[in-house]
Amino acid sequence: MYKNFKKSEFLFLSLVVLQSLPHGLKFLNPFENYDKTSTAGDIYLKLFTHHRELCHHFILVFTDGSKSSTQTSSACVFMNSTLSFQLHPSCSIFTAEIRAILHSLSEISNYPADNYIIYSDSLSVLQALSSLHRHSHPLAFSILDLHDRLVCKGFSILLCWVPSHVGICGIEIADIAAKNASAVLDNSTPLKDFKHYINLALHSRWVNHWNSQSMNKLRSIKPVVEPWPTLTNRKADTIITRLRVGHTRYTHRHLLMGEQAPMCTQCNCIMSVLHILSECPNFNSLRLRYFQSSSISLTDLLGKIPHIHLLPFLKSIGFYPLI
Ligand SMILES: [Zn+2]
Repeated sequence: MYKNFKKSEFLFLSLVVLQSLPHGLKFLNPFENYDKTSTAGDIYLKLFTHHRELCHHFILVFTDGSKSSTQTSSACVFMNSTLSFQLHPSCSIFTAEIRAILHSLSEISNYPADNYIIYSDSLSVLQALSSLHRHSHPLAFSILDLHDRLVCKGFSILLCWVPSHVGICGIEIADIAAKNASAVLDNSTPLKDFKHYINLALHSRWVNHWNSQSMNKLRSIKPVVEPWPTLTNRKADTIITRLRVGHTRYTHRHLLMGEQAPMCTQCNCIMSVLHILSECPNFNSLRLRYFQSSSISLTDLLGKIPHIHLLPFLKSIGFYPLI
């Protein structure tokens, strides 16, 4: 869309766009110099107590989000009331956390103008609110908009991060309230969350379908649905793929040509990838040479990372050009 602009015009446009973007909301972090993995809970409690002494003139509000396999929910804890509600199950934990902050602001707007401090244990949400850009979460803009309107009415509202599960009472209450939420909030789901939800649902159906395959040759080699790396050599990658699905020109061309299936004369069985690579005693000595064992499974040969001596072995038994 910018292809007809000169570089100087493009820079000017970029500057206009950047200036038109809203500034984010900064947040307090009284614990930023303390690593959660190595700081005892009582240290956090002392820090929080000290922080509250400094901010005693701010009315406190605790928020939390929760997501399990069955529900997504949010909660806001005020001095005299607790609000909790379920969101659509497709909402992410990020949406649950940010929705809790938006809901607390909405609730604050019903009270007289005063000083408020909203606590959240979601550092990622607070960081996202502090640096808005055009890809920011849609509710981040709703929060900024409501915050600005409240400030215009004389409210003073701070955001602050607190660690969870260290004994800070308000955040623990918010955690329990979110988990036990029963009321359902009629809200929209961000498109990004819904796409992720659909992808997970489709992947789950794919996994169930894959797990139900009992005759599929590839499934015995690749029981888990996940992307496997491709080889940089296109020819080698094609060879490996054909072996993994168990279909090669040598073992399956008879179906196209209307011929008899190729037989192993020594074993008196139909030739298959499994028989040639793992079973036929004709190749035991070459298996020993290349794999240090006369018995090796297809999983070991054709798994996520194919055996490094597979291609030389295929060439030595004469199978390579027939695949
Ligand atoms: Zn054989």
